[in-house]
Amino acid sequence: MKSKNNKNSYFKKLKKHHVKKIKLYKKAWKDSKGNISIVAAALILISFLILSIIILNVSLDEIHSNEEAISSNQYEYILNDYRRNLPLLEREALEELSEEVIKKKTPCTDSKEDLKKIIDEKLKAENDEYYKDYGIRIESHVSSIENSSNPFAVKIKTYISSVKGDLSYKNVLEDDVSVEGLRDPVPILICGKDPSFKYNETIVEYGYSLSNYLKDNGVANYSCYINATVPNIVKKCPYDPYKHHGDGYAMKNCRDNGYYHESRDGACYMCRLEAKAGCEHYGFETFIIPHPTNETNLTSACGSDHVIFSDDIYPGVEVSYYSENGMNEILFLDPNGHRVKYGMTNHTI
Ligand SMILES: [Zn+2]
Ligand SMILES: [Zn+2]
Repeated sequence: MKSKNNKNSYFKKLKKHHVKKIKLYKKAWKDSKGNISIVAAALILISFLILSIIILNVSLDEIHSNEEAISSNQYEYILNDYRRNLPLLEREALEELSEEVIKKKTPCTDSKEDLKKIIDEKLKAENDEYYKDYGIRIESHVSSIENSSNPFAVKIKTYISSVKGDLSYKNVLEDDVSVEGLRDPVPILICGKDPSFKYNETIVEYGYSLSNYLKDNGVANYSCYINATVPNIVKKCPYDPYKHHGDGYAMKNCRDNGYYHESRDGACYMCRLEAKAGCEHYGFETFIIPHPTNETNLTSACGSDHVIFSDDIYPGVEVSYYSENGMNEILFLDPNGHRVKYGMTNHTI
């Protein structure tokens, strides 16, 4: 019995031992499973890192090769585009300056310096834009603003330089920027503070402002210029040579369209921004049109704008260029100067 009992307890011990062993195995298996998870996680992490580095390298290579493609294939194209855009940017700057002067009714003290500032600011913004879009650094600034041989344009010289890898560009570009289509600031700068002065997109109506101005400057018959008009937009006259203004309705068409004419005595556009109607540069002039009249042989100030707004206002005689219902559309022209220049000596309509 005892041996049987002993046998049973031996089996019990053995079973217990096995169970314990199995538990130990299970624990070991569990532990090893934990270790395997850590190793696996580490492996995945390392693989991920390696993969990331490979992907990043490929991307950088792609960017690099893209930049090289821009450099070799498009550098010249991009700079040509930049050059083509310059006159537009300069014209925009000139228009901005002109609008500012007219809006504030305040003349520039140095219009060329003011224009240079606006263009340089625009160039800086443009250069930032080109760097952002194409990765190309461009340095540029206005090197000079001069009068052009064409009085209806301003000569603007711009220094440009750019370096991109082995490629580089350096030049001084010259553009004749047209002033046609811009507003003439002279009338508003000289008479614009008078409450009767009005202007719209195409024409200035002086009201009493010009006759008051002429009265203040000792001009007889100043009242001829009550309600006088003048063009508001600079437009080059196509009737060239100017003597053809005396042919038929040429002068009528010229005045109805508000054309401007080349003139050694008339102010250039940049000086007009400084409220000058005459200057030492080769410029242009237009005619101030008095209100229509049925009177004949009148005299008053010569109607060329550089004469009206000069320190030496000289007289003109009445020249009718169109008649309707007994009313004459007239100009006052000095007999030996403007009347001859525009072929109006024997004009009869
Ligand atoms: Zn004309
Ligand atoms: Zn000038």
